[in-house]
Amino acid sequence: MNYKIYHFKSLTSTQDKAKELSKKRLSNIIVVADVQTKGHGRLKRKWHSGKGGLWMSILLKPIKTESLQLLTFAASIAVVRSIRKNAGLKANIKWPNDVHCNGKKLCGILTEGIFGIDNYVIVGIGLNANQKSFPNDIRSTAASLRGIRHRLFDIGKIRNDIIISFFDIYENYYNKNKPNKIIKIWRGYCDTIGKDVTAATRRGKISGKATGISKDGSLMVKSKNKTIKIIEGDISIRY
Ligand code: ADP
Repeated sequence: MNYKIYHFKSLTSTQDKAKELSKKRLSNIIVVADVQTKGHGRLKRKWHSGKGGLWMSILLKPIKTESLQLLTFAASIAVVRSIRKNAGLKANIKWPNDVHCNGKKLCGILTEGIFGIDNYVIVGIGLNANQKSFPNDIRSTAASLRGIRHRLFDIGKIRNDIIISFFDIYENYYNKNKPNKIIKIWRGYCDTIGKDVTAATRRGKISGKATGISKDGSLMVKSKNKTIKIIEGDISIRY
């Protein structure tokens, strides 16, 4: 897969820049910024993006765009693999979009679709790599590779490993319509299944045991003898 990396010192967010580039009908572009001044997560929640992190967005024009959750899965697999390889840390995935190490968030992933004459998808990845410290509001919940390992990391190397793994899954499974392959690999890294969870959904709180993942990437939660399908996008989940 051919791709180009556009590197910026500072952007409002790499997602914003990728959206701008999609209007020029570009794709297979990776937007990277050293700093984001307005990084955000799902539901426009603030994403702290100071110097030392890996902030990037992958702009794609996929053949099909019905199951975007699978691209979030592909990105989280790629991130976990890169962290395990470069930092030797046993990172895991928390459904639907976080990569953590011992419960502390190392990385968030945000997948957004842009639908029009052509359909584009932007997969945003924010990984805490070389930050020394965090702002107060996330100090107890976030971690960086440097904070855990007490050394500096080569962000370019981590980034390239993520890109290679991501495109491998994207080309060989996503675009060839093999969602089961993606879900199978993803399950091997996910530690949400089997846990007691509380999901805050638009319909209210649902508590129960996470029992599995459906074909489209939704979380199945067994609550009071009923299995409920929780769709990504409208929930936050707590163990
Ligand atoms: P959620 O974890 O509920 O899925 P998001 O993925 O949308 O939330 O990410 C936004 C949340 O992540 C913020 O509300 C904040 O608590 C936390 N956060 C913000 N910046 C960082 C960061 N650099 N590292 C770890 N967590 C962060």
